[in-house]
Amino acid sequence: MDTEHAGLAEALTLRRPDRFGGLRDHVQRHIGAHGCDGAPLGTVEARELAVVARATHASYVLELGAGLGESTLHLASAFGQTGRIDAVEADDAHATFIEQMAKLFALDAAVRVQRAPAERVIAALSGPYDLVVVHGLVGEELTDDIVRLVRTGGSILVLPAPGQATIAAVPVGGGLLDRLATDPRLLAWFAPGMGRVLANRVR
Ligand SMILES: [Zn+2]
Repeated sequence: MDTEHAGLAEALTLRRPDRFGGLRDHVQRHIGAHGCDGAPLGTVEARELAVVARATHASYVLELGAGLGESTLHLASAFGQTGRIDAVEADDAHATFIEQMAKLFALDAAVRVQRAPAERVIAALSGPYDLVVVHGLVGEELTDDIVRLVRTGGSILVLPAPGQATIAAVPVGGGLLDRLATDPRLLAWFAPGMGRVLANRVR
């Protein structure tokens, strides 16, 4: 990556006050105490989520692998008067942390944490969601449900797993990337370098 321009993106993003500055400190403390991997979400990445939520007019969002909930809160902050995000997180300590942070930043009315692995809850969800955010590549068994849960006109955003720079490639033959590339109901953009995939459900 061009570090000079990466710095410029951050500097420009920071020209606007960050209401979640304190969240980064909480996340850092959690990582130290819990000993889990990762680092707080960068300012630029956080802004991306808020802008994607706005650009897709999302007020009903599903997030798979919500982690420490940083993206959850940034997505929820972009809702208008009403909106809800279902944040699915398997790690019990992280699910609790998301609930605490949602309360702290007065977003608990918009955030519902599903405390379970995605494969255990996804079949019971009915959606349809305006936006489905997937952190890291999920098991092939989730692929049908992910597409089912996005409304026509809605979007799917696949981001790298926490701490990863890119979405790891999977062998061709049925994974989520393969589905996004080939399903006629979807139109997908694969970012150069595979840092993200953004797909729209066209029908
Ligand atoms: Zn942790």
